[in-house]
Amino acid sequence: MRVVLMGPPGAGKGTQAERLVEKFGMTHLSSGDIFRAEKSSGSELGEKLAEIMARGELVPDDIVVEMMAKAITAVDGGLLLDGFPRTVAQAQSLDKTLDEAGSPLDAVVMITADDEAIVERITGRRSCPSTGKIYHVKYMAPKVEGICDETGEKLVQRDDDKEEVVRERLKNYKMQTEPVVAYYRDAGKVQVIEVNGMQTPDEVAAETVAALEAQGR
Ligand code: AMP
Repeated sequence: MRVVLMGPPGAGKGTQAERLVEKFGMTHLSSGDIFRAEKSSGSELGEKLAEIMARGELVPDDIVVEMMAKAITAVDGGLLLDGFPRTVAQAQSLDKTLDEAGSPLDAVVMITADDEAIVERITGRRSCPSTGKIYHVKYMAPKVEGICDETGEKLVQRDDDKEEVVRERLKNYKMQTEPVVAYYRDAGKVQVIEVNGMQTPDEVAAETVAALEAQGR
């Protein structure tokens, strides 16, 4: 199964991606994770990406498309794309990459959420620096404050999870990424499944899994 997971920052894409991978066993490719890995590598490209990400802006399409096409073509079998595509140009490029590989998308899952809830969710978000496991100071607190349950490491906050950056990311989402959903709806080649992300993570997961299973039949 090849699925694109969409939604504003903080809609719960990362959490849902974990659940979907557990359920369906596909490979999870998060563009944000791929860019953060490049940033950690200390390369020249990584430095450029770090500056863009810290401002809450989108990475230019040519860089995104090249890095994602490379990652996607290396995957054999099921695929869960998270954070990509974020512009119509990226969606068109993804269509081309998948068409060439003879493996078009099966579904686009769109998780929705309110702006103010998003700001609260993201500014409270923390993650484990080595495994990337996600927590929230209020809604998904670790057993010991500030410490990963699994690795015992100190949890960190992403630079771009600060409030003013989150608001910039939301603005960019509305301007550049909402049209991607319209692109998929208009093209009519793939089913767009809309799930209300204001429910509990379990409820969102259950609804998403049921919709994907129904779609696969
Ligand atoms: P995320 O972890 O998905 O919230 O992504 C973190 C940051 O990486 C975003 O705020 C953007 O700066 C950048 N980014 C991730 N995916 C994309 C994409 N598909 N297109 C452009 N920029 C992206």
